[in-house]
Amino acid sequence: MAAESPLLEAKRRVEYFDLGARSYIARCDSPRMPFKHTINPYRGCEFACKYCYARYTHGFMELRDPRDFEEKIFAKRWNPVAFREELAKIPAREMIAIGTTTDPYQPAERRYEVTRSILRVFAGERGRKLGITTKSDLVTRDLDLLRTIARANVLHISMTITTVNEQLARKMEPYAPRPELRVNAVRALVRAGLSAGVFMAPALPFINDSEFEIDRVACSAADAGASYFGGGGVFLRQEAQAMMFPWIDENFPHLSGRYRTKFSNNAFLDDGYAQKIAARMKSARELYRLPHRPYDYHPEQWEGEQQLALFTL
Ligand code: SF4
Repeated sequence: MAAESPLLEAKRRVEYFDLGARSYIARCDSPRMPFKHTINPYRGCEFACKYCYARYTHGFMELRDPRDFEEKIFAKRWNPVAFREELAKIPAREMIAIGTTTDPYQPAERRYEVTRSILRVFAGERGRKLGITTKSDLVTRDLDLLRTIARANVLHISMTITTVNEQLARKMEPYAPRPELRVNAVRALVRAGLSAGVFMAPALPFINDSEFEIDRVACSAADAGASYFGGGGVFLRQEAQAMMFPWIDENFPHLSGRYRTKFSNNAFLDDGYAQKIAARMKSARELYRLPHRPYDYHPEQWEGEQQLALFTL
């Protein structure tokens, strides 16, 4: 009987690889970015968002099938000595962003803890500026370290939430934690005294960019006590189009032609769209009294700060 049983579903198979890293910290010279340095503990990302712009980065490792990005995950081999040496070369006040290309709290992190290892180093630092971006509630596992870091360094954590509609999220970001878990993670981070905001990006035309969708995410962010709220439109490079267009065909066939026409010759949406999205985000912020950007707070043990003497001996 077993031999004749029809297949119901084949479990998705992800392969993990150990990647010897030449360096952990990359420099970012783009004037559009608020950070100067980036850290991505993993290459590839199992969350498999259909719109993911980072798929092309697997091409640097000669892996050109866009699916490889979500099925072949490389964990950077941890070498604390090498990491500390690299970090020592970076001036204290220069912004370092963790999770700019791949998610630092994707499932591989439960096994390999590369992100946690990096945070352990930052927990011993003072006077640094650090940002973390994720779609995962696994970030709350590291509350202890995050609180220690935030006492002596500026730390902002951005949770990406593209929709609070669970069915839509499952379609767009099939293996990422569901929106409710992300909202609750923001709540937990803020309750722990951390600066944690919601980033609603990317907005996909006619899919999650309506005033209603933006309002729902902003409302959830406000309810969780988010420290800031922002977002922006999608851009679709060719590698991302290879995943995105068939997905649109399957789930939003009425949009197939429009997406192809819009993105085939240009990865970016025009300025007019960007302005409309910005205006919708602004209205939502005003309605829920959410700041646009992280506040510039002063850590209690900021570098160079004179400590008060409690007792005079
Ligand atoms: S979480 Fe980010 S890096 Fe990972 S698949 Fe989604 S968009 Fe790409």
